[in-house]
Amino acid sequence: MKRRDVIAGLGTGALAAGLAGCGQEAAGPATSETAPGKTFDWKMVTTWPPNFPGLGTGATNLAKMIESASGGRIKIRVYAAGELVPAFEVFDAVSQGTAEMGHGGAYYWKSKIEAAQFIATVPFGLNAAEMNGWMYYGNGLELYEKLYSPFDVIPFPAGNTGAQMGGWYNREINNVEDLKGLKMRIPGLGGEVLARAGGTPVSLPGGEIFTALQTGNIDATEWVGPYNDIAFGFHRVAKYYYYPGWHEPGPMLEAMINRQAWESLPADLQALVKTCCQAANCDMLAEYSYRNAEALQTLRNDPDVNVLPFPTAVLQEMKRHTNDVVAEITGRNADAKAIYDSLREYQVRSTPWQLISESSSLSTRNL
Ligand code: CA
Repeated sequence: MKRRDVIAGLGTGALAAGLAGCGQEAAGPATSETAPGKTFDWKMVTTWPPNFPGLGTGATNLAKMIESASGGRIKIRVYAAGELVPAFEVFDAVSQGTAEMGHGGAYYWKSKIEAAQFIATVPFGLNAAEMNGWMYYGNGLELYEKLYSPFDVIPFPAGNTGAQMGGWYNREINNVEDLKGLKMRIPGLGGEVLARAGGTPVSLPGGEIFTALQTGNIDATEWVGPYNDIAFGFHRVAKYYYYPGWHEPGPMLEAMINRQAWESLPADLQALVKTCCQAANCDMLAEYSYRNAEALQTLRNDPDVNVLPFPTAVLQEMKRHTNDVVAEITGRNADAKAIYDSLREYQVRSTPWQLISESSSLSTRNL
């Protein structure tokens, strides 16, 4: 279904039915302060470079979808990273009401909310389909809302890239020794795992990575996958492109709304925004699924690019360190423990099904 068809189908009745079907609660009743004819002019701050494919355009698409589906009752102006606030201050801007809405990834706020990393993605954890399962039908969304509640931020799943790539390296990674001293841009839990393996993780917003890699300030970077990585031109400054993205098997992007702004919306617009976020969540994954395939082909045809699997011993080492990092954080942080326990309990149940459904289906394609 094309995006315009989704929008065309968004009547209030359809919204209510959609919400009932997706496991999210229906919005509360309108108050006397939320007159039906009122219009809303909102700002959405994002962590993405201007119009960046997939991530930035995903945020813009969400804003357009809300405006269109609401018949212009909600207008949202989207700001790229740095236009209104820097990339890593998006959460604070929404929390403080500087902007009514934000779009980013939960692991970018780890210095403020350590447990938020476990919401975005956990190394060797859930894939995109499972992440949606956990969010909408398991306890994921409830725990996510509880985590952001003290900051007056209401979160919504609003995108997923699917499994990412392991990143671009200026040298081959043949064994665990090659990770020692490696200075790499890698956010979230993945960065902490790399540090245990002897590397130096660096946190950089997307717009600063290319120059850092080109000038040798970093030896390696992960970003997303072929579609986005080509857009940044990483293949022009690093030769080795490794998979899988062990650190981000199905990372979820998020929309955030300031509580006061959210509560100012009448019930029908709250329902509409929730459903548009869910449509954006689905749409982003669809775009990545399609465009990564095209871009991978381009990279494989480039004689200067080597697309390589990580050696098994390297992945085993990363998994071992992941277990240590997770145990350490969940041991000291009750929120992280609650989130991880819920996620892990689902993952243990889900894995046998994923193996005999998705994995085994994929393996039949080359019979
Ligand atoms: Ca990434």
